[in-house]
Amino acid sequence: MLDALAWTPKNRGTLEIGEELILRARAEAGRYESLVLSPAAVDALRAESAELFEALPEPPAYRRANDTVRDRAIELLPRATDLLSRLIATAKASRDDERLATLIGAVEAHVRALVAIGGGNISAGDNLAREAWEAARAATSSGSFFQFESPASAAKVFDRNTGVSRYDPRPEPSLTVQLFCANQDCRRPAPYSVAPRYSTHRFTCTLCQKPFTGHFVEVRGVDSRSVGKAMHYTLRVEPVGGGASVLEFDDASQGELALAPRDLAVLLYSGTGSLSAVENLTTGHVLWVVPKGACFLATAAFGEGARELDAFRAFRDEVLLPQAAGRAFVRAYYRHGPWLAARVRRNPRAQRAVRFLLQQMHRGLVARR
Ligand SMILES: [Zn+2]
Repeated sequence: MLDALAWTPKNRGTLEIGEELILRARAEAGRYESLVLSPAAVDALRAESAELFEALPEPPAYRRANDTVRDRAIELLPRATDLLSRLIATAKASRDDERLATLIGAVEAHVRALVAIGGGNISAGDNLAREAWEAARAATSSGSFFQFESPASAAKVFDRNTGVSRYDPRPEPSLTVQLFCANQDCRRPAPYSVAPRYSTHRFTCTLCQKPFTGHFVEVRGVDSRSVGKAMHYTLRVEPVGGGASVLEFDDASQGELALAPRDLAVLLYSGTGSLSAVENLTTGHVLWVVPKGACFLATAAFGEGARELDAFRAFRDEVLLPQAAGRAFVRAYYRHGPWLAARVRRNPRAQRAVRFLLQQMHRGLVARR
């Protein structure tokens, strides 16, 4: 890939080389046949793109001998073209075309800028870097995922004809977002209107009428490490309206926290104040947070604190989680279990049936030990 950079500036223009590298990256994309297309995989590519965008060096204002900026640009090129290939391959295989297309455009703009900067082309480097920044901003802004409501009336504050002046009747700007109810028995999505000036908003679920709270933040960074069978997340965020804060929580759901820097997310807290979910408003991905040691279907059938629960927890931790198929089951269970548990709790017949089934399983589990 880098041999294309062994140019002589006199007979080969840096612009040509940029286009050539982009064509090669497109051809390379054909080599990635089986890409995993989970939302988390797409988000990982977005995160990688965001990192590349941040790494673009400031183009030099004049030509210097042994300019380290040029070296840095050349160093970044293989990373940029490889990312471009994977993005193109992913776009081909997925239907998330529009968002990936803007991202691909932005990475291509970065390849052009890096080639120009690396080649020491001062004026082209300056122009192309500016184009690359614009493209990156368009590709990573979360604005396109919201619908801004236009003010209902554009009535004049001061009417020249009548001479009447009054307070500004326009409503505060608001945006409509789809939020999931944070209460465990509900978890259903509905549209809500939010004034984007504040980060914390109280809602009443329009479906179950219970209260929940949403804390709106822009993601700055995510760190995770496993703690036993759970994941410990450290989330660096900037709350909407300013400031900076860090959020730490554990999650045993085996799900993925698919967040990239600059994503807009909402932390959803139930009426009792516990963190229920992290919803990525930029991508629509939701992680339902499961506290360590929770097992809601059995809890719904047997009641909180029942001795049967220990056997199921042990089964999950000792038998299911060490195997890939078991982990997939646990993931599916945590995704659909709460929904099932809510219905079980509301229906005494279903509760009896599930308790009977689980008792049979429980007997088997105890016999296994
Ligand atoms: Zn609800």
